[in-house]
Amino acid sequence: MDSSNRWPSTFDVRPGRPLPEADVSRRQSKRATPIASSSEVRRRMQAVRRVGTDCELMLRTVLRRRRLSFATDWPIPGTRRRADLVFRKARVAVFIDGCFWHACPRHASWPKQNASWWRQKILGNVARDRDTDRYLRRIGWKVVRVWEHTSPNAAAARIVRHLSAVANAPSNHRAAHPR
Ligand SMILES: [Zn+2]
Repeated sequence: MDSSNRWPSTFDVRPGRPLPEADVSRRQSKRATPIASSSEVRRRMQAVRRVGTDCELMLRTVLRRRRLSFATDWPIPGTRRRADLVFRKARVAVFIDGCFWHACPRHASWPKQNASWWRQKILGNVARDRDTDRYLRRIGWKVVRVWEHTSPNAAAARIVRHLSAVANAPSNHRAAHPR
């Protein structure tokens, strides 16, 4: 799926470093992980996937309880990437990053089997996350990244703080980034 990695020409991609394959951390495409052959790795991936999904669903519930409306799995304009939750009016994008797939400083773990493949895969995800952050900021969005280990209430509180910061920002912000 080469087209999934196409970016606008203004996008900063370091030469000699191709963007990684489809984002298995979000899309969970089975064919993107052909090397997950050992049962240990497979078990780990399944556990991680379940926790990540639960975390996102719980966060959505908490946010809805606070009467906040947002879009989910939102295609980022001009890219083939997606944001987990977005508040379009406030231009705040939220990503729930899996501890394994995005190398959380507390819980990152590096499979021993096919170690270099995994390392490249995970570091590729991290590099792409930073690319995505820069891209969104450049087009006038705020980015909030939440680790999957964060409690839904703490994550919601952080998001609400960002939303109120945007709401209280001087109105010339909007003129700079017309919708
Ligand atoms: Zn973590």
